[in-house]
Amino acid sequence: MFEREREELVERLSRWGYLTKPEIVKAFKKVPRHEFVPPNVRDYSYADQPLPIGHGQTISAPSMIAIMMESLDLAPMQRVLEIGAGSGYNAALIAEVVGKEGEIVTIERIAELAEFAEENLKRTGYGWVKVTVGDGTCGYKKGAPWDRILVTACAPELPKPLVEQLKVGGKLGAPVGQHYMFQTWVVAEKRGEKELKIQERGGCSFVPLIGKCGWKEEG
Ligand code: SAM
Repeated sequence: MFEREREELVERLSRWGYLTKPEIVKAFKKVPRHEFVPPNVRDYSYADQPLPIGHGQTISAPSMIAIMMESLDLAPMQRVLEIGAGSGYNAALIAEVVGKEGEIVTIERIAELAEFAEENLKRTGYGWVKVTVGDGTCGYKKGAPWDRILVTACAPELPKPLVEQLKVGGKLGAPVGQHYMFQTWVVAEKRGEKELKIQERGGCSFVPLIGKCGWKEEG
């Protein structure tokens, strides 16, 4: 189901230059986005647009996910922390790249969405991805240090606990900026315990990251 639509989406994202790395192209070809969205928007699964997943949240547009994943140099066997599980789709794509020899923990603040993500991941064969409910701005200390940290909601600045929980040599990607606007996709490479190389990789638009080291509330 939807195989042709998925193929065409990957072909478009490659032609437009969003997808370049073979292992990420392979993941986009394999993971069924339509299994991660609610039935009322399923027909739009392979359009390059964000889609509502309930509770005022969205699954990001495929081109944005491609930008995030390509900018982090994901590779097999890495240990990855994702903040904002949402539908679980992004975590499944990461799972395809890092493989079972790697590890993924994804944190979601809304319990119902964490359950949605977990169900979607199990149904599609990614039950080994750990989904946990909590405030991702505090990171996941139990599993630190992480090779990669991917934040999928926008914070006013890079949350300090996430920088602390990143491995030296590791990369953290996050949208940083205002509520829904003037946001930049930022990639921070930890060069030493106290040294971060920060690169701004262009504009983006995400829902707010709400928590102790993010925004205090929705509005
Ligand atoms: N990665 C998701 C996917 O593939 O469907 C999309 C994520 S959506 C753009 C952002 C998610 O971040 C929302 O589900 C939202 O509830 C969650 N979120 C916001 N603040 C959070 C926090 N402090 N900790 C964990 N999740 C948070």
